Amino acid sequence: MKHSSHPENGKYFGVRIKSNSEREYHPAEKQFIDAMQSIVSKYGKLEDRDEKGIWVGYVGAKENDNYSIGVRCSNCAHYESAKVCKIIKQEIEPGGYCRLAAISSENINKG
Ligand code: SF4
Repeated sequence: MKHSSHPENGKYFGVRIKSNSEREYHPAEKQFIDAMQSIVSKYGKLEDRDEKGIWVGYVGAKENDNYSIGVRCSNCAHYESAKVCKIIKQEIEPGGYCRLAAISSENINKG
């Protein structure tokens, strides 16, 4: 059972946390996000070798070499929940990522 102040509920110790879709995106990236969601609403969620011609290239958390800079599903505009992405079909991990990731600069650690 989730506690009401758990970060996944959008709150942390009474402070509301922005969802990834509420973050600031460059207009080009916003257009990319909208385009991917439009494609999925028309053709269904994507997966490698589904004959739609879009290579997802998902890797799980253990293979994610970009985790430390913030490139991961839990920071992506398409992230729905711990196992669900809005645009790809397979089960995901919060620490994984794919080549369609849309990460706000607010979530990137430029180190
Ligand atoms: S990185 Fe890829 S798999 Fe992960 S939430 Fe974003 S679009 Fe989905």
